[in-house]
Amino acid sequence: SGEELMGGNEERIHVSVRLRPLNSKEILRNDVSDWECINDDTVVYKNVNLSASDRSMYPTAYTFDRVFRSDCSTREVYEKGAKDVAVSVLSGLNSSVFAYGQTSSGKTYTMTGVTEYAIADIYEYVQKHPERQFVLKFSAMEIYNESVRDLLSVDSTPLRLLDDPERGTIVEKLTEEILRDWDHVVQLLSVCEAQRQIGETSLNEMSSRSHQIIRLTIESTSRDFLGRENASTLSAAVNFVDLAGSERASQSLSAGTRLKEGCHINRSLLTLGTIIRKLSKGRGGHIPYRDSKLTRILQTSLGGNARTAIICTMSPARSHVEQSRNTLHFASCAK
Ligand code: ADP
Ligand code: MG
Repeated sequence: SGEELMGGNEERIHVSVRLRPLNSKEILRNDVSDWECINDDTVVYKNVNLSASDRSMYPTAYTFDRVFRSDCSTREVYEKGAKDVAVSVLSGLNSSVFAYGQTSSGKTYTMTGVTEYAIADIYEYVQKHPERQFVLKFSAMEIYNESVRDLLSVDSTPLRLLDDPERGTIVEKLTEEILRDWDHVVQLLSVCEAQRQIGETSLNEMSSRSHQIIRLTIESTSRDFLGRENASTLSAAVNFVDLAGSERASQSLSAGTRLKEGCHINRSLLTLGTIIRKLSKGRGGHIPYRDSKLTRILQTSLGGNARTAIICTMSPARSHVEQSRNTLHFASCAK
C-alpha cells in the first residue's frame, strides 16, 4: 500500500556495501576475489595469505546496515539499500542517495538502476493518489572541477550558485522539466546520459572526477472534499548522486604528495566525507556545507530532517584491496 511505500522514519544514515563480480580484465590477469558477504550485513576479507602486520593493521570483517553479494540484482540493492530513503520525499522530507566507491567499482551501474526504480515508485504512488495534486520536476547537473553544468541543456556555460533566504542554495538557470508521463522520464534520463559523454576525449578520466546529481522535486497540494486546493503544500526533493571516484579523496597520501598532486584531490568529495562523518557522530557543531559546490547544492538534503542512504561499491579483486579498504573505512565512519 501507499503507506508502506512511505518507509520508516530513521534518522541515521543508511549505509550499505555492494560487491561487483570480477570483471574480464581482472579475470584475465588471474586476479582473485578476496571478499565475501555473510549474514546480509557483514563483508569479510578472506585472503589467507595475509601478513601478520597486515592482519593487525586492518579489520577483516566490516558490518553495515546491509551488504550485497556480487550476484545481487540492482533491484534488490534498490529495495533494501535506497527505497525507504528515496520515497520519504513523498512525505515531504528531503533526501539523498549516494553511490561512493573507486572508479570502475560499479557506482554508475548501481545508480542508473536505483534512480530509475525510485522514480518509477514515486511516479506510481502519485498516479494512485488523485486526492493530492502532485507536480514532479526533474533536473540534472554535473560538477566537474568545482564547476556546475546543466545536464539538460546543450549550453555548457557553468551555472552560478545563489543564496536564497527561504530556499537555501539555488542553482541559477538550472533547467527544471515538469514530468508529463513515464516516456518523458525515460527521455530525460537518456538525455542526461548522452550529455555526460559529449565532448569527452577520455570518458573514464572525466567520470572519475565528476559528480552527477539527478534531482526530483515533488510539490503536492491536498484538496478538500469539494476538490478545492487547500493551503497545505508540501515541497521536497530527492537527489540521486553518482560521486567522483573515491580515489580522489584518498586520505592515505602524505602531505608532500598531496601538495604535488593537489589537482588530484576532489574538493567536493573531500568536503562531503567530512560532513558525513560529522553528521554520523551527531554532535552538532559547525558543518562545513559551504566549503564545496556539491555540499552547498545538497545542503538542505543532508542532515537536519533529511534522510540519507549511501551505497558503497567495491571490486572484490585482490589487486584493489587498498582502495576497497579505504571505501570500507569511509562506510564505517558514515554509520
Ligand atoms: P564506476 O561508475 O564506479 O566507475 P561502473 O558502474 O562504470 O563503475 O562499472 C564498471 C564496469 O563494471 C561497467 O562495465 C559495469 O557494467 C560493470 N559492473 C559494475 N557493477 C556491476 C555489477 N554489480 N554486475 C555486473 N557488472 C557490473
Ligand atoms: Mg561512473
